[in-house]
Amino acid sequence: MKNKKNHELIWEDCLKIIKDNISLQSFKTWFEPIVPIRFKSKVLTLQVPSHFFYEWLEEHYIDLLKKVIKKEIGADAKLEYSIIMDKSVDKKTPYTVNLPTSSKKNLSNTPVSMPLNIGENPIRNPFVIPGLKKVNVDSNLNPTYSFDNFVEGDCNRLARSAAFAVSNKPGGTAFNPLLIYGGVGLGKTHLAHAIGIGIKNQFPNKTVLYTQAETFTRQFIDSIKNNTTNDFINFYKLMDVLIIDDVQFFAGKEKTQDAFFHIFNHLHQTGKQLVLTADKAPVEMKGIEQRLLSRFKWGLSADVQPPGLETRIAILEKKIYGNGVNLPADVLEYLAYSINTNIREMEGALTSLIAQGSLNKKSITIELAKKMIDKFVKNTAREVSMDYIHKIVCDYFNLPIELLKSKTRKREVVQARQIAMYFAKKMTKWSLASIGAQCGGKDHATVLHACRTVNNLAETDKQFRGYLEDLEKKLNVN
Ligand code: ADP
Ligand code: MG
Repeated sequence: MKNKKNHELIWEDCLKIIKDNISLQSFKTWFEPIVPIRFKSKVLTLQVPSHFFYEWLEEHYIDLLKKVIKKEIGADAKLEYSIIMDKSVDKKTPYTVNLPTSSKKNLSNTPVSMPLNIGENPIRNPFVIPGLKKVNVDSNLNPTYSFDNFVEGDCNRLARSAAFAVSNKPGGTAFNPLLIYGGVGLGKTHLAHAIGIGIKNQFPNKTVLYTQAETFTRQFIDSIKNNTTNDFINFYKLMDVLIIDDVQFFAGKEKTQDAFFHIFNHLHQTGKQLVLTADKAPVEMKGIEQRLLSRFKWGLSADVQPPGLETRIAILEKKIYGNGVNLPADVLEYLAYSINTNIREMEGALTSLIAQGSLNKKSITIELAKKMIDKFVKNTAREVSMDYIHKIVCDYFNLPIELLKSKTRKREVVQARQIAMYFAKKMTKWSLASIGAQCGGKDHATVLHACRTVNNLAETDKQFRGYLEDLEKKLNVN
């Protein structure tokens, strides 16, 4: 017997089932060309001949593939594609990209019955379909904003765990409402959708609705105009899970708050789940009525903070993987180091970079990345981050970053630290005091002294000047 590898055996068994379920012609066309290449951590990787091929499989055979794989490997099995991008290159191993299989699940709601008295109102409105007792509720959920695609870090751990708990037990945790708050682009909307998606996956019969506070407000105003406010309120009362994004938008809109207050009370009393997001904590919200604010605080308020470096890198890696792109590690690090406040901006930069690279058939280099970043980091354009200075200096002198930030007085560390301070002073807007604080807890006089020392040495020591020139080149964003 030929000595077959594990993934080959698994795939062989899968093929047997697949063959029984589709026509021979389809089998030959779409399954015979597939080559199993690995099975690791429950992920089976299949090599397919082209991107088109991959799309076709995902479009037509994904349900079958998933069932078969689940049967052969287990419920937690995953599928990944390795796509041959370019066969013309004269290499032993073709250029491939890996793509995870999509996890398209049904996010739609089953139609729900409206209260009978609704028929009394003859006016057509978006919430009632005349002549029908059932209404269709579009969940408005975006399948890409799933928990799978969300990277957990210290910055969002509480919010993410609470969100996860709620999605497993809607209406059945102490987190009702769950209010997620924090700055722009930090994942609030993503988490809000993830909760809805999680619930739809586990409880397909629950009616889930995601709405932006702005949409809610607009619909409410329309309902006043059309004399259908009762329908509006009744519609929202039908939800099992109501997710309202950016509730700070309700500020100053008393009538809307009033309507929401009633809906909130009804849902809460009947054990339905409420999920809210806001750009600040309830205590800091202005223009929201006290009775509503106090209800926001009934459950759990969890914040999301800007992600640390490691989380930023993990987010970029996840995003790249999802796009099936290969990006050099230094480019990825550069992105993560340079954009440190807003994940949306970081993603935007990455997307443009990938687009630039593929449109111009240029490989994505650090130079291209540097050019791109300028366009994305509006306010801090041309300013390198302190983290990046530390990284570049430490890489250059082969020192661990922790040493630079420690209090050690070892000669080579002291020099690297002085150089880092010098570049921070030259290239960032940080004050001397904060530069010092971030370089081993030094005070502003130490930073000033460091800058003088570096300037002096640069004039007298040729080798030292060489270091500075190298580093400046590496750091220069232009
Ligand atoms: P917010 O609603 O807080 O302004 P979003 O939820 O719209 O922010 O997030 C902005 C972008 O960043 C989205 O594309 C989202 O997918 C992404 N994002 C934010 N946080 C994370 C995370 N922890 N992991 C992966 N992607 C994230
Ligand atoms: Mg948002």
